[in-house]
Amino acid sequence: MEIQKIINNGNQYLMSTYGRTPIAFLDGKGSTLTDTEGNEYLDMVAGLAVNSLGHSHPAVVEAIKNQAEKLLHTSNLYWIEGQVALAQKLVQNSFGDKVFFCNSGAEANEAAIKLARKYAYKKYGSHKNEIIAMTGSFHGRTLGTLSITNNPKYQEGYGPLPEGFKFSEFNNLEALKGVITENTCGIIIEPIQGEGGVTPVEATFLKAVKEICVKNDILLIFDEIQCGLGRTGKLFAYENYEIEPDIMTLAKALAGGVPIGAVIATDEVAKAWCPGDHGTTFGGNPLVCAVGLAVIDTILQEKLSDQAKQIGMYFAEKLQGFVNQYSWVKKVKGMGLILGLELEIEGTPIVAEAFKQGVLINCTAGKILRFLPPLIITEKEVDQTINTLAKIFKEMEGV
Ligand SMILES: *Cc1c(COP(=O)(O)O)cnc(C)c1O
Repeated sequence: MEIQKIINNGNQYLMSTYGRTPIAFLDGKGSTLTDTEGNEYLDMVAGLAVNSLGHSHPAVVEAIKNQAEKLLHTSNLYWIEGQVALAQKLVQNSFGDKVFFCNSGAEANEAAIKLARKYAYKKYGSHKNEIIAMTGSFHGRTLGTLSITNNPKYQEGYGPLPEGFKFSEFNNLEALKGVITENTCGIIIEPIQGEGGVTPVEATFLKAVKEICVKNDILLIFDEIQCGLGRTGKLFAYENYEIEPDIMTLAKALAGGVPIGAVIATDEVAKAWCPGDHGTTFGGNPLVCAVGLAVIDTILQEKLSDQAKQIGMYFAEKLQGFVNQYSWVKKVKGMGLILGLELEIEGTPIVAEAFKQGVLINCTAGKILRFLPPLIITEKEVDQTINTLAKIFKEMEGV
């Protein structure tokens, strides 16, 4: 179908929750997407950090085909071999001991909130139920996760939101000390804030937070939904800080585009849950777990974390060139292949111009260009992105 028809029908039949670029893709291979008119685009967004292996990766395609021929779904009334295998893989490669699977990032954070509260409830009673989140945070769009998403625009009109949540300034230890009370049961942090502007947590702050958590039996929750699974140059972002959480949430890249979410916790925390305490119909079904296993195995076997680190350094260095060249380009943010370029001007027109020139990038927090390419991106593809931006920036200077 031609694009204008798709858009017209979309406007007629879909709820209008997204401001979309007027394009639809039919095909993807590696870091390249092809639209309905046959035009090719370099994908530096990777479905918002989902397609970390690129599009149509053979391992993902094969896992889907093989599993689809055998069994898609049985529900969690029964044991699921692939679910156990994926949990084992996550445990063997992380701080955690136990895993719960669900279907999205927001659901994973919902589960993390519920687990933290149940843990505190069983140990201390119902008063210890407060969760502290950071300014600039994004944790999802459900009512519970909206309560810990520090964006008034996303919250507006949805009140009353669930209670027992507070915000504290990101990377400000004194502020946090002022917000914590004896009722605090959890602190949730994105090791690198994605939507908030590609801002890494500071190591000294995180170390102090960990100490406070240990001392007060407050659970430290890391939301690695965007930054986890190789993107920062380590399998998990927390490894860059050598600080382990009590609970970690994953989603986006975990099954390469098939919807999945996961909560990983230590034994001590996980044992707060007994049969019936939480659940989901789809979560961890045979299909999604087979794909998740294929994705993690590929990330590990092909050392994609190391590759993200190497190519990310190359990319960041090139971006730094713009900072040196243009006064209105302020700084390079992030690490590995979760990178931002902070501008003094709105980024949206630049995203639109790059799109016209065949490169898909993103803008977040108004003035930060965000790059979340597949981890398999090549230097040549980074160069193409840089050359496109160079052209756009140069023309902007000319105006
Ligand atoms: C995307 C994201 C979420 C929400 O995930 P959904 O799958 O969209 O519900 C939560 N936290 C972070 C850090 C994210 O980037």
